[in-house]
Amino acid sequence: MVLLDGKKTSNEIKEELAVEVAKIKADGGKIPHLAAIIVGSNGASITYVNAKVKACEKVGFGSSLIQMPVETTQEELLAKINELNNDMVVDGFIVQLPLPDHIDEETVLNAVSPNKDVDGFHPANFGKVALGLPSFIPATPNGILELLKRYKVETEGKHCVVVGRSNIVGLPMSILMGQKKYPGNCTVTLTHSRTKNLTEIIKTAEILIVALGRPEFITGDMVKDGVTVIDVGITRVADETKKSGFRLLGDVHFESVAPKSDFITPVPGGVGPMTIASLMQNTLKAIDMNR
Ligand code: NDP
Repeated sequence: MVLLDGKKTSNEIKEELAVEVAKIKADGGKIPHLAAIIVGSNGASITYVNAKVKACEKVGFGSSLIQMPVETTQEELLAKINELNNDMVVDGFIVQLPLPDHIDEETVLNAVSPNKDVDGFHPANFGKVALGLPSFIPATPNGILELLKRYKVETEGKHCVVVGRSNIVGLPMSILMGQKKYPGNCTVTLTHSRTKNLTEIIKTAEILIVALGRPEFITGDMVKDGVTVIDVGITRVADETKKSGFRLLGDVHFESVAPKSDFITPVPGGVGPMTIASLMQNTLKAIDMNR
C-alpha cells in the first residue's frame, strides 16, 4: 500500500510556486495575488480560508482576506465581488462556501469574473473543463489529478467509481476521469444517494473517489483488492481528547480499507492540502488569463 501523501506533495508544489514567484520578482513582473471573501463566522470555513491565505504568504503571493458579517446582504456581497473583478492587484479570488441562507449561491458564483474564478465554479469555466478546453479546473478535482499524476497512478482503461455528484467535487471529477488524457481514460460510474446497488458498484471500482460527507462510510468489505482510494470527505467529529474539541474524519474507514488498497489518501493530509496547492496554481495561471 502506498500512501498518497497530500501534505508532502502540496509542499513540493508550494516550493515550485515559490521558485516561480522569485523568477517573476527578478523579472519585475506582477506578483500573483489571491483574495478570499468569507461571509459569517462558520468555524470550519474560517479555518479553511485562513489556511489558504497563509499558504499564499508562504510562497510569496500577495493575499487579502475580506471578512463580511453574517448579516451582509446579497447586494453588498455582489458589490464587493464587482470591486474585486475590477481590482488590478487581485489576480484571482474565491468566495468561501457555504454562504448564509439569505444569499443565493448561484447568483454569487455567476458574478465572479470567469478570468478571476480560481475556484473554477463559474458555469463558463465548468463548461470549458467539461469540453477539455484550457480553464480553471476546480481546486479539489485538480488537486486529485495532480496527486494521481505525481504518484504515477495508472488510470487508463480502469473502472473509476465516483461517490457523490456535487458541482464542486463529484461531478467535475467524473468528467475529468473520463477524458481522453492522463490522468483519465477511465470508464466512469458516477453514483449518488439514489444509486441502486451502491455496494456492488463500489466493489467493482479500480479507482474509487469518495466525496459524500459521511464519516467512514466506505469500509474494507466494500472494496476490492488493489483499489486506488481517494477520500475527499472531511467531517469534524466531537472528540474531547483533542485540544480543539474535534477530530477530522474522512468518508473512508482507513484502517479496514488501506490494507486492500494499492494507493490511498489519508484524512487529514490527503486531498485537503492538495486543494489549497491547486488554488494557488490557478492563481498563478490567472495572471495570464487577465493579461
Ligand atoms: P455535497 O453534500 O454537496 O454532496 C454530497 C454528495 O454525496 C451528493 O451527491 C449526495 O447525493 C451524495 N450522497 C450522500 N449520501 C449518500 C449515500 N448514502 N450514498 C451515496 N451517495 C450519497 O458534498 P461535497 O461534494 O461538497 O463534499 C463532500 C465531502 O467532501 C464533505 O465531507 C466535504 O467536507 C468534503 N470536501 C473536502 C474538500 C477538500 O478539500 N478535501 C473540498 C470539498 C469538499 P445526492 O446528490 O443524491 O444528494
